[in-house]
This record gives sequence, C-alpha cells and structure tokens, in this order.
Amino acid sequence: MASPKVFITRPIPYSILKKIQSECEVEMWHTSAILPPIAERIPPLDGLITYGHEPVTAEMFDTSPSLKVVSVMGVGYDHVDEDAARERGIALGHTPGVLSDTTADMTWALLLATARNVVPAYNHVHVNREWNYYDPNILWGYDVHHSTIGIVGMGRIGYAVAKRALGFDMKVLYNKRERRPDWEEELGIEYMDLEQLLKESDFVSLHVPLTDETIHMIGEAEFELMKQTSILINIARGPVVNHDALYHALKEGQIAGAAVDVTEPEPINTDHPLLDLDNFLVAPHLGSATIQTRMKMATMAMENLFAGLNGKRLPYGVVQAEEVS
Ligand code: NAP
Repeated sequence: MASPKVFITRPIPYSILKKIQSECEVEMWHTSAILPPIAERIPPLDGLITYGHEPVTAEMFDTSPSLKVVSVMGVGYDHVDEDAARERGIALGHTPGVLSDTTADMTWALLLATARNVVPAYNHVHVNREWNYYDPNILWGYDVHHSTIGIVGMGRIGYAVAKRALGFDMKVLYNKRERRPDWEEELGIEYMDLEQLLKESDFVSLHVPLTDETIHMIGEAEFELMKQTSILINIARGPVVNHDALYHALKEGQIAGAAVDVTEPEPINTDHPLLDLDNFLVAPHLGSATIQTRMKMATMAMENLFAGLNGKRLPYGVVQAEEVS
C-alpha cells in the first residue's frame, strides 16, 4: 500500500521528522520564503501538519479529498476552518497545555522588559553608546511588584500567568466568559467584567483565543478606559487588538506602553508606524519558542497525525473524524 502523503508547513525537529518519514511520504516547506496558499501547494494530501498560521480553508479541503487529518503544532487553531473540517469528517488536532508555562514565561519577559525599559536600556548602552556618566534621571519605569494585573482570557496560559503574578505580590483580576470560583479560592484572584478590569489594571495581559467574539476586543473605547500609566501585553493573537487604535493610544499617551508577541498582519509590515514608537515592543511570535517545548509540541503533533491517518481518535483533538456534522 502507498505511504500516506503528508505536508509540513515549516521545518520541525529532525528526530520527529525522521519518525514521520518512516511511515509517510513527506514534503516539508524548508525555506524562509513565504509559503504559498496551502491549497495551491501539493494536493492531494492524506495529512497536514501546520506549524505557522497560514489559512487552512474549505477550498484546500475540497482540492484534497483524501485528507484525513490536520495536525496543528500549536494550541491556537484560528487559522483552520474548523466547521469545514467537521462537515467533511476531517480530524483536527492541536497541542494544548504543553506550551502554557513557556508562553506564560514569555508574557513575563515582555511585561518586565516594558515596565523596566530593558530594550531602551540596551539601545542606550549597546546601540547608541550613550552611557558615559551615571544619570539617575533616565529610563524610569513602573513598579511591577504590588501592582495590579488584569488577565483577559483566563485559561491554561492565563492561569500560569496569574501564578507568576503572585510571586510579585500583585493583585490579580481576571475576565473570562465562565467564572472559575475554584481558581478564585486557590489563587486569591478576583473576577471582573472587562470594563472594570481595564479601569483598574496597571498591566493588561491578553490570553483569549481569536474568535468572532474576541476580534478587536481591545480598541478605541477600551484604551479610553485604561490608565495612562498602564501597559498592554498581547501574546494571544494580533487581531484581538485593533492596531490603529493601539497606535493612537501609544502615540497620544492614553496608555504608557505595549508589548506584543503577535501582530495584525503577521509579520507586521516593516514600515508600520507602530515600529517607530519607543513605547512599543514586538517579538516575532516567540511564545512557545524554547527547545524543550517545541520538542514536546512536535511530538504531540506527530501523535495526532498518526492517529488521524490510522482512523483513530486524536489524543489531543479539537475535531474527531467521526464527528461529521
Ligand atoms: P484556553 O485554555 O482555551 O484559554 C482561553 C481562555 O479565553 C478561556 O479562559 C476562555 O474562557 C477565554 N475566552 C474565550 N473567549 C472569551 C471572550 N469572548 N471573553 C473573555 N474570555 C474569553 O487557551 P490557552 O491554551 O490558554 O491559549 C490561549 C490563546 O493563546 C490561544 O488560543 C492562542 O491563540 C494564544 N497562544 C499564543 C502563543 C504565542 O506564541 N504567542 C502561544 C500559545 C497560545 P471561557 O472558558 O470562559 O470561554
């Protein structure tokens, strides 16, 4: 019997690739050139590993009728047409949980770097070579300890961020659709509606998935509610924040700063005006980017792929093949 055909949208760790190649005919997008739309690439496929965020559409499913499984190497699957997969009985898997602590660590890297001016300090000393005398009046930041953080989207990653905040003696507010009294009791955190959370927080950290409800959930009206001294962290998805409104809020001093790991569009255009602002920091989508975590994600993505190709339930499934709607 012919080996199943699999496409992988970015290079994955070699040891995992070898295991997949031992059972499948694999094509992997190796270059740093932008991936053409997957539908135009190599249909028909039996399996797809998406590592990156190119749209996986109904059109792609229709050009690849043999497709059994889409395995997302990541937790967010907003780039995959979930309904179209369900309608066609295509299994969809992702890699939840394994990256929560790692992404929470990166949230804190962004938060601390912004509050304490780590990048301007780097530019001052390394880039501009301006540290020629001790100036006690430069680069004052904001206290993190004993401040208030508002976590919007309190799921796996939000929970891990909250736990870290307690080590900084912070007051933790959170918002999600369904309250978690057990977490309120365990962590001493407080539920708040979004409006009040934005008013009270010194740091607002976004951890919602990208959905019809969360697209542009932070825009002009929300920035107006935030403190002028507040800092926004977005490590969720770029379109959760309206970037025109973000630019305006940072430029006009409606908020003090923003640090993001995700942008709209992604990658952000190199001439985007946000990149000219000193109070804006962007990382190139590094939330889960550690050696250990990427290995675990690749392993889970492979397990989902093999299960889907063999008609079994995905161990980390969003849609199971038998759930045809
Ligand atoms: P999760 O466990 O599913 O948590 C998501 C949380 O968002 C849930 O608490 C959910 O609350 C809440 N939520 C959903 N819709 C909401 C709404 N309209 N208003 C308020 N809260 C809402 O997901 P996770 O594993 O923590 O990951 C969260 C997201 O982070 C992913 O979807 C992905 O986009 C992003 N992410 C980014 C990176 C990166 O590299 N930058 C890495 C990993 C993940 P309910 O339970 O009440 O619905």
